[in-house]
Amino acid sequence: MKSIYDLTYEQLIAWTEVVAWKKYQAKQLFQWLYCHRVNSFEAMSDISIEKRAFLVDNFALKTVSLVTKQMSKDGTRKYLLKMADGALVECVLMVYDYGKTICVSSQVGCNMGCVFCASGLLKKQRDLTAGEMVQQVLFVQKELDEVNERVSHIVIMGSGEPFDNYDNVMDFTRIVNHDLGLAIGARHITISTCGIVPMIRRFADEEVQYNLAISLHAPNDELRSKLMPINKAYPLHELMDAIKYYAEKNNRRITFEYILLEGVNDSDKCVKQLAELIRGLNAYINLIPYNHVDENGFKKVDYRHAMTFYDALCKAHVKCTLRQEHGADIDAACGQLRAKHERKQ
Ligand code: SAH
Repeated sequence: MKSIYDLTYEQLIAWTEVVAWKKYQAKQLFQWLYCHRVNSFEAMSDISIEKRAFLVDNFALKTVSLVTKQMSKDGTRKYLLKMADGALVECVLMVYDYGKTICVSSQVGCNMGCVFCASGLLKKQRDLTAGEMVQQVLFVQKELDEVNERVSHIVIMGSGEPFDNYDNVMDFTRIVNHDLGLAIGARHITISTCGIVPMIRRFADEEVQYNLAISLHAPNDELRSKLMPINKAYPLHELMDAIKYYAEKNNRRITFEYILLEGVNDSDKCVKQLAELIRGLNAYINLIPYNHVDENGFKKVDYRHAMTFYDALCKAHVKCTLRQEHGADIDAACGQLRAKHERKQ
């Protein structure tokens, strides 16, 4: 049965027309789901009993359940959720001074095969639906409701490649962004891609205000192809052309993510190549401490060396930040919790 959370507001209006309901009832429904955040159709008290029964017959409402939750000392919380078909999905809540950010998964497993990442240890089983992404946010939001707090930012940086599940991800963003719904501002929503060039161009054409982050991780083709197989399909010059196209159409600043891997992509030469690569772009580089994954042998760069790399980039006039580590004590990197859970089973 289709989940009601799969429907954007526009799709809900279209549905009310098909079943000959009044159009305003789409608004009522949407508000029950996302403002009052009810857990059942029965709770929608200003919708008639017959109509509530009709909803029960036509849509599933709650289809995710909690498997485990881990709390980090720094406030980060990691959730392992089970979907209706048993698929396991992770999401993470991170606490910043400017608000609370949820990191949402877009697929079960991932086919991109980045060698440093735990998500790719399990090949893609399937795409998540828009509703399954919405429910990650709602699950966490309902928990925050108890203490009157709210999810203020969303990053689509959990397991999966969002641009390999483009339509569902775009529907998801429309639902959480909608004024009648969770109303999370477009500029508070970030989509992170490993660099699927045609989809970056398609995204550019949507002219939406979401932030775009690119997982770069290497400043030259030789190294990037070793770390990220996607680079063989879309090498750096094609990626950078697509990013320039996006930047011209959208006038938005781009984030490049760069995990610092000891002895791999942390040399002075990499600094120079990085500076060269992004020269002239309205962009900044987010240096990310590597979260250890048992299976793959990479090592995290120590803090002092990370600072040296950061300083060298600043000197080369590259805007950059060194990301604070979140939840290292609770397997908070993509796919880690799920991989560990499945190994135990
Ligand atoms: N597929 C998308 C989004 C999911 S990955 C993408 O590639 O952007 C989200 C980010 O986490 C990416 O930048 C990814 O490279 C990074 N990442 C993956 N494994 C990591 C690890 N073990 N430590 C730190 N960052 C990791």
